[in-house]
Amino acid sequence: MNNVKCAKCGEDNIAKAKYCSTCGYTVKKYIEPGIINNVKTSNDLKVYRDNKTTMIYNYRDKNGVFVLKLSVTPDMYE
Ligand SMILES: [Zn+2]
Repeated sequence: MNNVKCAKCGEDNIAKAKYCSTCGYTVKKYIEPGIINNVKTSNDLKVYRDNKTTMIYNYRDKNGVFVLKLSVTPDMYE
């Protein structure tokens, strides 16, 4: 078996896994900047930015399996 430890939570994951099955660490590292950028620039989200809303994203993989929940707080997009 070829396991790698998650750099964040220390959980063992299979080496080919794209993200930690426990905390979603790797996928978070890749998708979070894009989501924050979208929150910062999207016209549709302006009203939420103006109201300093915390936005919650539920991220699923291509098979529809829940991977992680991301909260984007006003500190992250201002
Ligand atoms: Zn982890």
